[in-house]
Amino acid sequence: MAKALIIGAGGVASVAIHKCCQNSDVFNEICIASRTLSKCDAIKSKLEGKTSTKITTAQIDADDVPALTELIKREKPNVVLNLALPYQDLHIMDACLAAGVDYVDTANYEPEDTAKFEYKWQWAYRDRFKNAGITALLGSGFDPGVTSVFAAYALKHYFDEIHEIDILDCNAGDHGYPFATNFNPEINIREVSAKGSYWENGHWIETEPMEIKRVYNFPEIGEKDMYLLHHEEIESLALNIPGIKRIRFFMTFGQSYLTHLKCLENVGMTSIEPIDFEGHKIVPLQFLKAVLPDPASLGPRTVGKTNIGCIFKGIKDGKERTYYVYNVCDHQECYREVGSQAVSYTTGVPAMIGAMMLVTGTWKGPGVFNIEEFDPDPFMDALNKWGLPWKESFNPELVD
Ligand code: NDP
Repeated sequence: MAKALIIGAGGVASVAIHKCCQNSDVFNEICIASRTLSKCDAIKSKLEGKTSTKITTAQIDADDVPALTELIKREKPNVVLNLALPYQDLHIMDACLAAGVDYVDTANYEPEDTAKFEYKWQWAYRDRFKNAGITALLGSGFDPGVTSVFAAYALKHYFDEIHEIDILDCNAGDHGYPFATNFNPEINIREVSAKGSYWENGHWIETEPMEIKRVYNFPEIGEKDMYLLHHEEIESLALNIPGIKRIRFFMTFGQSYLTHLKCLENVGMTSIEPIDFEGHKIVPLQFLKAVLPDPASLGPRTVGKTNIGCIFKGIKDGKERTYYVYNVCDHQECYREVGSQAVSYTTGVPAMIGAMMLVTGTWKGPGVFNIEEFDPDPFMDALNKWGLPWKESFNPELVD
């Protein structure tokens, strides 16, 4: 029996909260704390009476470390699950250290004024977490998260050495809008308008945004265009998978999305440089976020599936081998179950599972860890149980 303090009340948090409430044997109590209290209360009122998990709510600005520390000390959770934005990661880690409570997130720290995400800021907390005797679990979403667990599982069961990993993220969902993003638009657009990069022979190779395109025939979906992006799990997998030679990350985008994005970029709407507007400073990308559809509103109108997984190439018993492991998720089925589309669902479920691994003591050890550093087997079992069953192929189509 454990209590989680969940920070954030957006798309991903809503799914993780639904999943904690389905898993009352482990999470008998949760506190939902976010900047806008009404959003926490709205999620609570949807679930109350349908779960035996006790739900409380609180207003918090997670960037206010003393206030957050006080909240954690007052609520006495077993784990803090950070489902706010990447900008809050370090402040929430600081508060967890001050209060002596384990920490879980789904996305690595990104400074608000520079579109650059790297693990170095969070890895710098390793000694402090170790000395405090508490655990920080980084990247417990789908990618990063499940994709990194897939890598640990492939290495444990199927390979002596993995040489190449291609992470393929396909969202074939259709929400009917000419342009909308499936999760926080600011974070999403920062990610896809940045330069691409991949890891090869011990170095980063940088590409122009969307420079490398491939077509892949995704199981249960069909052929889609996908583009090479920089993605955070490449950085940690390059360290944690011994003998790795190349890691790439591809995400699918439709032509309409790309045309709109190019146009928005060309007119300056994706910039994060503040500009003067009628006597105020505004950040164009934050203004764009305000006029785009709220990702949480896409749930009822999104149809189709996601397929996210990893293809591995390597050696077992002296012979070359390939292995593909992936999950297929249906937007409408997710909506029927928890009232959210599949992008929030595929992130919120592993967030709950990561928190469960810590509070049940299945994963333990003081320090700061990326998810692939723990035993993948209990997490893989939990994916099957909690709504993200995975499939495998030992003769997959490869990406050239
Ligand atoms: P949303 O924008 O829907 O929700 C973010 C929530 O955080 C909102 O409730 C927001 O409050 C709250 N928040 C923001 N700033 C603060 C603050 N200073 N203090 C307290 N609360 C705050 O985002 P998503 O749910 O789509 O994404 C949540 C996280 O999940 C992000 O970090 C994202 O990068 C990550 N993610 C990870 C994925 C993965 O596979 N690993 C995939 C998709 C997302 P308010 O409502 O007041 O704005």
